[in-house]
Amino acid sequence: MIKADYYEVLGVSRTASDQELKAAYRRLALQYHPDRNPDNAEAEEKFKQCSEAYQILSDAQKRAAYDRYGHAGVSGAGGFDGSPFAGVQDIGDIFGDFFGEMFNMGGSGGGNRRGSRVQKGQDARHDLTIEFEDAVFGKEVQVSIHRREACRDCRGTGTASGRGPTTCAQCQGRGQVRYQQGFFSIARTCNHCGGTGTVITDPCLGCRGDGRVERQHAITVHIPAGVEDGTRIRYQGEGDAGRFGGPSGDLYIVLQVKPHKFFERDGNDLHCVVPVSFPQVALGTEIVIPTIDGETKLKVPEGTQSGKEFRIRAKGVPYLNEHGRGDLIVQIVVQTPTKLTRVQRELLRQLSETVSVENTPTSRSLFGKVKEMFS
Ligand SMILES: [Zn+2]
Ligand SMILES: [Zn+2]
Repeated sequence: MIKADYYEVLGVSRTASDQELKAAYRRLALQYHPDRNPDNAEAEEKFKQCSEAYQILSDAQKRAAYDRYGHAGVSGAGGFDGSPFAGVQDIGDIFGDFFGEMFNMGGSGGGNRRGSRVQKGQDARHDLTIEFEDAVFGKEVQVSIHRREACRDCRGTGTASGRGPTTCAQCQGRGQVRYQQGFFSIARTCNHCGGTGTVITDPCLGCRGDGRVERQHAITVHIPAGVEDGTRIRYQGEGDAGRFGGPSGDLYIVLQVKPHKFFERDGNDLHCVVPVSFPQVALGTEIVIPTIDGETKLKVPEGTQSGKEFRIRAKGVPYLNEHGRGDLIVQIVVQTPTKLTRVQRELLRQLSETVSVENTPTSRSLFGKVKEMFS
């Protein structure tokens, strides 16, 4: 393998001063340090390369040899000895605050803080199937939900003693163990405590150290009038309890609205289909129709055609969290009479003989159009 040029590795010119070399090395070493790039072979290789380059170039004698003979001038005795930093003289100067910087990384804020078992509880979801009428008018429903609550045996501490987890002896509570590699100290997650910095030596028998147990919990769900299928109602803090002092999650009640026998919903309007007989619509009549609030009467005028829609104001679904309601739209469908008696048949025959195009508005206009076509 051809070794990369030391100056290129550090990204400096061949005339770079000691200060420039130092600054370049510091920047690269911090960037590619294994602590910041766990399980990244490429970063590790870059880290080694820049360490080697700096070790050679920071030594005036070695730098002169390298400038003159290249890599051959500094390999072997007196050259790079394979272990990073062995020959670097001014380590303290360069990395004086290095470790402080490494320790400060992600030390505060953020959810993944090392050295802590504190966890927010998970959000819980409960599906609730309700009647069509309950979605229209609203209702209070008692539901029993499953959720994790703080264990009563140990008051959520997870430990039999009730005192809570103790500091991990392996890492002194840091959640990491550091070991020396060359000059650098490398951090690894502590195996003993899994990186939390604490251990439970006397787990509570009630919750096996979790601090929480699964329990049934009764809750009153207030369903507002006008909700739709799929509506989510949020109850803050009613989900799973947090762990070791963490906040509780939220509870989401997800509503599933059952379909109705007669009514179909379209936004805040309701639709229904009402069958009527041919004589009823021919002569005009008053019929009883269903509404979501109960029965009401509808006047069907003489000569109403099948398919005609009537709008009944404010008999639809209430607007959610607002005043007012949508409408009920009633569609009239004319039924053709069946199972005729002899008398009915005779009456219809007599009627049929007298009915002309004048009595059927649709065919009247159809005949008119056909005539136009052929004239
Ligand atoms: Zn530990
Ligand atoms: Zn417990």
